[in-house]
Amino acid sequence: MRMLVIGLTGGIGSGKSTVARIFSQLGSDMISMDKIAHELTQQDQPAYRQITDLFAPEILLADGNLDRKKLGQLIFSDSDKRIKLESILHPKINQRVKENLQNCCGDIVIVEIPLLREKSQFPYLDRILVIDAEESIRISRVEIRDNLNKTEIKAIINTQVKADMQKSLADDIINNNGLLDELTNKVENLYKFYLTISKLV
Ligand code: ADP
Repeated sequence: MRMLVIGLTGGIGSGKSTVARIFSQLGSDMISMDKIAHELTQQDQPAYRQITDLFAPEILLADGNLDRKKLGQLIFSDSDKRIKLESILHPKINQRVKENLQNCCGDIVIVEIPLLREKSQFPYLDRILVIDAEESIRISRVEIRDNLNKTEIKAIINTQVKADMQKSLADDIINNNGLLDELTNKVENLYKFYLTISKLV
């Protein structure tokens, strides 16, 4: 038996964080790639200099921190830039994830990866779980959660990896169009399935 590493993804408002929380309550270990990327791009980190050398000044806030929203928009509309950014960040992120994985001890580890677009970029993942919900439902949920309007949310969705593309990478898909109880049930069942396969690998 060994640790089973699951990559958890889905667009904004799909329910990733909610699913992550349920897995965590069930006993999974969690790693957030967003949090790691955030830590690695602080001003005292090597990646910060590499990124600003390439993209500054347009992606800097007045306080010198990276403007993540601008950076997201920039790399979405220019795949050369996206590839350059990924070549700076991914090796560092993967290194940090691997260190975290060595410190994990449970049967199941969930790695939350909002912008997962290629499995080969994350060779330590055993399976990919995509959370899916209709766009109109996602928008209504985010309107309440983030107090943004529909146009703002659509603009964010447009900079993310397309839902169909993510679903084509999935080993498992949870549909989250229903009630929270339903979602909790689905996550509990999947957790049991993951426990079973973690005993087989
Ligand atoms: P993501 O992390 O994918 O952006 P969240 O898990 O934060 O999405 O979910 C978006 C919002 O919708 C949150 O406020 C969350 O509490 C709510 N939410 C998620 N799933 C459901 C559901 N099945 N029913 C009602 N609200 C939900």
